[in-house]
Amino acid sequence: MPVDERLVSHVPTAYGRAVSGGAPHPESDVPARRAAAADDKPRTGLIEVVCGSMFSGKTEELIRRVKRALFARQTVQAFKPRIDDRYAKTRIVSHGSIAIDAIAVSNSESLEGRVAPDTDVVAIDEAQFFDRGIVEVVDRLADAGKRVILAGLDQDYLGRPFPPMPDLMAIAEEVTKVRAVCTMCGASASRSQRLIQAGATVLVGGSESYEARCRACFRARDVAAGAL
Ligand code: ADP
Ligand code: MG
Ligand code: ZN
Repeated sequence: MPVDERLVSHVPTAYGRAVSGGAPHPESDVPARRAAAADDKPRTGLIEVVCGSMFSGKTEELIRRVKRALFARQTVQAFKPRIDDRYAKTRIVSHGSIAIDAIAVSNSESLEGRVAPDTDVVAIDEAQFFDRGIVEVVDRLADAGKRVILAGLDQDYLGRPFPPMPDLMAIAEEVTKVRAVCTMCGASASRSQRLIQAGATVLVGGSESYEARCRACFRARDVAAGAL
């Protein structure tokens, strides 16, 4: 059966050109338009979010992406909130002891102030510890052509969405959810079980204070009711 020319002419290649003849495709001048646009405005960036529970490999994934960018000879700046000094003050360190250098900042405003104009990639760990202003900051950085990679907890110790992660996930071009291994049953874990009594949402800690649990093994109410 002959292929319908009208259909074929609408199949774009990677460069936006029509594959075959027929009537000129209405978007066949896409490459020219794209080149013209590139002259007057900087390359558009993007926002990537890596989220999940504690021990799910968020920091490892962030570091993996940073190392790939460095291999590609891109300029990278990594940031972490000053509050997180569990392993090191000026390094992002995973629970498996993989590390990269990082700048510790107190808030989103000082992060924005530290980003150099020629930086290609901005990596941010523990994004859930930043103030709400981080949403506008990373949006501006992406608008300025930077690739912004954020890693953070999507839920708090009661399984509630952990601000500002929901907003960051909403404006991101790409969201990756990673999961740990449930310490109770071995299933994939999406929750962070707090192991000690503490009412505050923010309690920076490691395996002495939290463990990864699946939905079935997670006991949020026990922590809230003080029945641990
Ligand atoms: P996150 O940043 O999500 O807290 P990290 O990237 O720092 O996680 O650490 C992930 C590493 O933690 C894993 O590669 C593994 O070595 C270790 N780990 C410890 N406990 C667990 C668990 N319950 N499930 C998966 N990995 C775990
Ligand atoms: Mg981490
Ligand atoms: Zn489980």
